Amino acid sequence: MNLSYAQIRARVDAAAQAAGHPVRLLAVSKTKAAAAVRELAAMGQLAFGENYVQEATPKQRELTDLGLEWHLIGPLQSNKCRDAALHFDWLQSLDREKLVEPLNRFRPDAMPALNVLIQVNIDGEASKSGCAPDAIPLLARAIARAPRLRLRGLMAIPEPNPDPVHRRNAFDRMHRLFDALQNAHPAIDTLSMGMSDDFESAIAAGATMVRIGTALFGARARVP
Ligand SMILES: *Cc1c(COP(=O)(O)O)cnc(C)c1O
Repeated sequence: MNLSYAQIRARVDAAAQAAGHPVRLLAVSKTKAAAAVRELAAMGQLAFGENYVQEATPKQRELTDLGLEWHLIGPLQSNKCRDAALHFDWLQSLDREKLVEPLNRFRPDAMPALNVLIQVNIDGEASKSGCAPDAIPLLARAIARAPRLRLRGLMAIPEPNPDPVHRRNAFDRMHRLFDALQNAHPAIDTLSMGMSDDFESAIAAGATMVRIGTALFGARARVP
């Protein structure tokens, strides 16, 4: 029995209750074996996040019987758009307009539209993926025009900072960006932010989806 799953689930639910809105838990299974995913799925967890298309597809093949929902949360290179569009239910890391056309073109008609979050570089870090906050409106319009994509909201990975106030600040700024985007696109419903160390703070700031790896699966053996 995986104790941490029940514990994390309870903490997410308690934080969601306190914040007054529902929150989805995405289990981040990067570097973890298909068997670990299967174990969590047996406990009721059905949505999983992976950083790399090439790491995810063999696991997905091994687990097709489970009907899981797969989210691509790592940076997307243009030459991986086809695989992303074929093998995932959600893409959380769309950060430039150039990716919109190929993703739309490669998404098979037989599948539902690909759910898309715009990744925002909320702390303006030089080395990070994500678009600048002021690039959100144009990118959102391009996604909304693509019939095979469905704009669902925003995602961010705030700068790792030991000061929780600093991170909470970034979450609050994301919430304001989300509200502004929702004015133009009323159907968006997802603000994905918060990881193992700070998901409760993210939920208090308005996160509707948290992405948790380490706290569920244990430390990763190698750097993702
Ligand atoms: C690895 C990763 C996570 C999970 O991080 P933990 O600290 O292990 O919970 C969440 N989001 C993204 C984008 C990641 O790459």
